[in-house]
Amino acid sequence: MTDKTFDVVVIGGGPAGYPAAIRAAQLGLRAACVDSWPVQGKSRAFGGTCLNVGCIPSKALLESSELYHRARHEFSRHGIGVGTLSVDIGAMQTRKRGIVESLTSGIEGLFKSNGVTGIKGRGRLLKDRRIEVTGTDGTQVLQAKNVILATGSTPIELPFARFDGTHIVDSAGALAFDRAPGKLGIIGAGVIGLELGSVWRRLGSEVVLLEAMDNLLPMVDEQISKEAARQYKALGLDIRLGAKVSATQVERGIVHVDYSQAGKTERIDVEKLIVCVGRRPLSGDLVAPELGIKLDARGFIEVDSHCRTKADGVYAVGDVVRGPMLAHKGTEEGVMVAELIAGHTAEVNYDAIPSVIYTAPEVAWVGKTEAEVKQTGKPYKIGTFGFGANARAKALEQASGLVKIVADQKYDEILGVHIVGPMAGELVAEAVLAIEFEASAEDLQRTVHAHPTLSEALHEAALSADKRALHAINKA
Ligand code: NAD
Repeated sequence: MTDKTFDVVVIGGGPAGYPAAIRAAQLGLRAACVDSWPVQGKSRAFGGTCLNVGCIPSKALLESSELYHRARHEFSRHGIGVGTLSVDIGAMQTRKRGIVESLTSGIEGLFKSNGVTGIKGRGRLLKDRRIEVTGTDGTQVLQAKNVILATGSTPIELPFARFDGTHIVDSAGALAFDRAPGKLGIIGAGVIGLELGSVWRRLGSEVVLLEAMDNLLPMVDEQISKEAARQYKALGLDIRLGAKVSATQVERGIVHVDYSQAGKTERIDVEKLIVCVGRRPLSGDLVAPELGIKLDARGFIEVDSHCRTKADGVYAVGDVVRGPMLAHKGTEEGVMVAELIAGHTAEVNYDAIPSVIYTAPEVAWVGKTEAEVKQTGKPYKIGTFGFGANARAKALEQASGLVKIVADQKYDEILGVHIVGPMAGELVAEAVLAIEFEASAEDLQRTVHAHPTLSEALHEAALSADKRALHAINKA
């Protein structure tokens, strides 16, 4: 092998691509990872959207803004006075950048210790698994036995609300504001809209979300999304449903946003407008057409259940293929493909992928909603438990929200778990394990949960499925 020949070349170093390269190297394969992430003035390029401008920086700002919010509204209930409270958004942004920097440089460290070759540049797959990489120092061609395409996704732009980087921005732009806008408009009350809206609302912005659909978070169990909506309203998020934006215009630093709602034409004037109406796969000009790799109508690379494309030895994983655009789904696909290439048996259980919305309270779920189970026609039972009766949630001053379990009536198998409440994103891990192991409600009932913990709400919800909750009234 020459220094340009590899067993596996991964194109894309985000949360789907870089773990694939690491796992391949762990299994004794010669692996390289190519990425072109544009970090100005720095040589680092790995981590993709998640680490650089997505999951990680947003969670850093969610935490900072939540602490500020709690100091303003909650500390006094604990008997804590803080005098005059101030907020330094510059310092928050510096902390955020420090976290991103340490994690992205951590990937380079992991590459080094595992023997993965990291290559900076834009990769394009040619015939016979040759990869053309164009970087700042020119073009080179790599040769691979196997190729994993993991190029991710990018925000969808609306023709009537083009990103200008100043007034109309995407999610990355909204994570870099140097102060809280006076009035902030958001098109799309999906996961990103609600998370970013929460950050800037807590830091003082008036926030209006314009959502085209008539119901909020349609993928979430209805009982849970209703409770979440109630809490978002309490935070002060102004969510307008059935609001279809038709035009925007920037005039003297103000964005005019025209939309229609219930047959009426309305306008809001905002200082900044975030457009977060979904993301599209980054699959254009990635693969030479003669390879026969197909894209679907929305640009996703077509793959089978094991992420194989139509071309021999070419796989695709993460946001660039079907399925939820979630970092952990991409990671598991990347690891699965590395293991398949090394000759192992590997699977991803697509029925047990958790989702989390990192608002306060968090929303998290795994498996089927009640409506989805109802649609199958199978008899089912429901167990619920409110955090209002959970001792730890009360001590945390976060005693609202609930856990809901949907289980098969006949076989008792847990089909879905839905949570809105404190640390829901952490609590859902137990539910994922339960679904992965095809656990029954009785299995959860017989599992000892530490007291006092938030996890007892899951235990009680499982008990409630059989009308035997200890700290709630079991309805007949
Ligand atoms: P999304 O699909 O979650 O939400 C977009 C929302 O915009 C939808 O509710 C849609 O109805 C609405 N919309 C679409 N066009 C519109 C229009 N013209 N006017 C008004 N509303 C419109 O997409 P997102 O929030 O942009 O997130 C993108 C992807 O990133 C998603 O797949 C999401 O799961 C993922 N993501 C996940 C997390 C997380 O796991 N916590 C965080 C951020 C992003």
